[in-house]
Amino acid sequence: MNLILLGPPGAGKGTQAKRLAERYGIAQISTGDMLRAEVAAGSPTGREAKAVMESGALVSDDIIIRMLGARLDRADCARGFILDGFPRTVPQAEALDRLLGEKQLRLDAVIELQVDDAALVERIAGRFTCASCGAGYHDRFQPTRTPGVCDVCGGDKFVRRADDNRETVTARLDAYHRQTAPILPHYQAQGRFFSVDGMADIDEVASQIAAVLDALPPP
Ligand code: AMP
Repeated sequence: MNLILLGPPGAGKGTQAKRLAERYGIAQISTGDMLRAEVAAGSPTGREAKAVMESGALVSDDIIIRMLGARLDRADCARGFILDGFPRTVPQAEALDRLLGEKQLRLDAVIELQVDDAALVERIAGRFTCASCGAGYHDRFQPTRTPGVCDVCGGDKFVRRADDNRETVTARLDAYHRQTAPILPHYQAQGRFFSVDGMADIDEVASQIAAVLDALPPP
C-alpha cells in the first residue's frame, strides 16, 4: 500500500500516518521528522535546513528530493509507505512521479485532510510531545492525564518544536497555500484522490480514512 497524506501543517497528518503505518505494516515517511533528525545531528543538510525551517519556509526541492529518493530504497518500504509532508511543491510531485516510475511503484491513494486555517493555528500553537517516547499532546485538546507525566511511558520531559509558535505558523500556512495547494490538481487529475474532513476528532478522521481505503478498487 503506497499512500500520500496531504494537508496543511497541523491538519493531523503525522497522527493519522502513524496509525496507518501500524495498520498496514508500511513505512511512515515524514520529511519534517527526517529534517529535524538532520538538524539534531548537525549534519550538512541539517545546518542548511535549520534557519529555513525556523522561519516557516520550505527547504529546497533538491535537498528534499535527494533525501526522499534514498529513503524509499530502505528495506522497511518493501510493503509500502505513507508519505507525510511530502510532496510540498509541484517540482517535488513531479520528481515523485519519476521516482515511482523508475521503481515500478504506483500510488494507491492520495488523501487530503481539510482543516480551517483558524483551527490550525490553535492546534499547532498548543502541541508538545514526550521527549522519551514521542507521544503527542496538546495543551487544550489533549493534555496528559496527570499534569507533567506522559500517559504512555511515564516520562516527565516534554518538547515543543521550534517552529510551533504563532508567528511561524502563519508563515507555514502561507507556504502551504502558495506552494503546496497547487499540487492538489496534479493528484486530482491522476485519480485515486480523496478529501477527508480533518476537523473531526482523531478517531473519526481515522475511520473516514479507513472507509476510503477499504473501498479502493483492486490495483
Ligand atoms: P513538518 O514537520 O512536515 O511540518 O515540516 C517542518 C518543516 O520542515 C517545514 O516547515 C519545512 O521547513 C521543512 N519541510 C518538511 N518537509 C518538507 C518538504 N517536503 N519540502 C520542503 N520543506 C519541507
